[in-house]
Amino acid sequence: MTARAIIDDHPQGIALIRDAGLLRRYGSGSRYASYPTAESLTTGFSDTELATALAHSNASGRDLSVYMHLPFCRQNCHHCANSRITASNPRRVEPYISRLDREMVLVSRHLDSKREISQLHWGGTPTFLTLGQMSDLIDRLDARFGLSNSRHRDYSIKIDPREADVFTLRHLQALGFNRLSLSVLELDPRVQRAINRYQPQVLTEQLVDEAHRLGFHSLGLELMHGLPGQTRESFAETLEQVIAMAPARLSLFHYTHQPERFTAQRRIRAEDLPQADEQLAILNTALAMLADAGYVHIGMEVFARPEDPLAIAQARGKLSRCLNGYSAFPPCDHLGLGVGALSRLGDSVTRNPMTLGEYEARLDAGRLPVERGLRLTDDDHLRARAIERLMCDMCLDLTTLGQEFGLDAGRHLGDALARLAPAERDGLVRRREQRIEVTPTGRLLIHRLAAVFDARAG
Ligand code: SF4
Repeated sequence: MTARAIIDDHPQGIALIRDAGLLRRYGSGSRYASYPTAESLTTGFSDTELATALAHSNASGRDLSVYMHLPFCRQNCHHCANSRITASNPRRVEPYISRLDREMVLVSRHLDSKREISQLHWGGTPTFLTLGQMSDLIDRLDARFGLSNSRHRDYSIKIDPREADVFTLRHLQALGFNRLSLSVLELDPRVQRAINRYQPQVLTEQLVDEAHRLGFHSLGLELMHGLPGQTRESFAETLEQVIAMAPARLSLFHYTHQPERFTAQRRIRAEDLPQADEQLAILNTALAMLADAGYVHIGMEVFARPEDPLAIAQARGKLSRCLNGYSAFPPCDHLGLGVGALSRLGDSVTRNPMTLGEYEARLDAGRLPVERGLRLTDDDHLRARAIERLMCDMCLDLTTLGQEFGLDAGRHLGDALARLAPAERDGLVRRREQRIEVTPTGRLLIHRLAAVFDARAG
């Protein structure tokens, strides 16, 4: 089937976007991931306040989700929008691992060691580490917090296919990881060259085969559309090959060209990017192919097979959102470790320093490395819940929300509901008395719909 024919068919389950203006109005800008955003956090949040937040978190008895940020990277991808530390020798990571350990020791003094770490995620560029360094870090995590052996745990890691082989996957499995996220982005060598990220398809296929053979729970692949040189035909070919690899989850990120903000992107010429009509055709081609292949659109850029825990949890109204994104686990507290990491503990959201120097300096002074934070008010909790339910259930029941918080939610959120009016006119949401329902088209732009409930956003 050609890409053109795919676009003209309207698939079941996943809606196409017919109007390029919708993408212009709602699709650009940063992804709204959770409430409150990092931009809303203020300076002056002390380590004593963080210790209090940890104590409150213990009192809740909730499970913990631990995120560890590993920012070292030897690559120079032209599309990169990440805050990273360029390095060529993995020995460069050793002092950082020592600082992570120091942070874990400081945090563990305030954390109830009996709490279950049901979720663990290593993000950034963890496959820069040697296998020995990975083992060392897992040992330290286990020594400080006690990792889970439950077969229901969700321990995941982001993999750069250029930095991993079948031995890496076997090692990661031995360390307790049971979910992988492969950052593939594109399989077309032309596009790979344009972003300086050459990774032969066979690398990805070998890793996917090995991950399936080893029985990793849920394999996710990350793709990116809107990259230089991409066309609807080239991306359709990539997606066809990716679908044939049968990942349980797929993320379809959109490349946003911001060379004034991200130096690496200055190597990409604006004229090489797909123009608006082609962008829309690429996106619609992808949406149609994913629908045809039986994927469920969870929300935003996330798609999953119907038997994946994310899709099952969403169908049962049990999907949640944490700082790592969608989760099939009940809401839990989130501890972020490492430079720039975010935490949500008890009533507080905090962020570590964004620069390595500042992060190290705080730890070397024997202090918890918190730089910014916010103590959540009742209003914050209500807005956070409204945003989470809208993003997870694709609907918001104002009656239920009001009952939970003991107020008239429709009246309390009146300003936000008024700001949804243009989206209602654009067919992204429907208001049925006390229910706000997101349409299939709105599902793709749910981040922009949810953001209207954020009273702190500037
Ligand atoms: S996008 Fe490329 S350069 Fe940027 S952090 Fe990832 S691997 Fe490194």
